[in-house]
Amino acid sequence: MAEQKQTEDQKQNQKRWLSQPPAFCDLCGRSFKTLTVFYDAKLPPFPWGLYCHSCFTSRKGRLGLGFGQKYSTKPPYLKLKG
Ligand SMILES: [Zn+2]
Repeated sequence: MAEQKQTEDQKQNQKRWLSQPPAFCDLCGRSFKTLTVFYDAKLPPFPWGLYCHSCFTSRKGRLGLGFGQKYSTKPPYLKLKG
């Protein structure tokens, strides 16, 4: 897992998910408990929501400002990409 090879410095500069972490994918209802990442993303024609990796990729989600952000489902819910 490349995400786990970050230095402490990088972790401190990283953005985090500040609200309660999501429980389920807004699209397929899968529980995030068993997953390592979630996406705060816009997946047209769906509005912004919290989605699992499989929904994000199958709906051709994009990462970046105005598109989507990828977060870890594990505390402290660091932003990984986007
Ligand atoms: Zn899903």
